[in-house]
Amino acid sequence: LGVLLSVPSAENANKINGLGARRNGPGQRPPRRVVTSTPVLARVRPLDSPSMAEQSAARILVIEDHADTRRFLESMLGREFEVLVSENAVLGIELARNQRPDLILLDLGLPDVPGETVAREIRRATATPILILTAKASEEERIGGLQLGADDYVTKPFSPQEVVLRVQAILRRDRKS
Ligand code: CA
Repeated sequence: LGVLLSVPSAENANKINGLGARRNGPGQRPPRRVVTSTPVLARVRPLDSPSMAEQSAARILVIEDHADTRRFLESMLGREFEVLVSENAVLGIELARNQRPDLILLDLGLPDVPGETVAREIRRATATPILILTAKASEEERIGGLQLGADDYVTKPFSPQEVVLRVQAILRRDRKS
């Protein structure tokens, strides 16, 4: 139990100093993902409260250069999740590394770096699930995106409901594993 109780402080410490799990040196506490796989939440939480909002809000990173789409996603996802946004790839990759989001929404058509490269860079640094947003719709391109390590795909124009449902589904899968 002592180990479990120490989790929030370790997590906060990481938030404060901005260090990712990978920076943890020898003798420091283990990365958050290892610890959260323990069934603590299942024990203290009644089974009849499936709402995601009742769990600690997942942190979603939105990397999208189109301002309207970005704001739209931010307000929509903000009802349920903590949302971080980046309008370009460079900041997006940095946030993905340092802010430890639970899920990343990645637009493939970014101005500074091709989205495919962004996905690869993120994958190199973290196992955070990636949901790709793209106007590219051909099967070949979809498969290409999934091969980059993306977890799912939403083709623009997308409905708000579809994005939220896909985000929830990925988070559920991720929490179980
Ligand atoms: Ca774009």
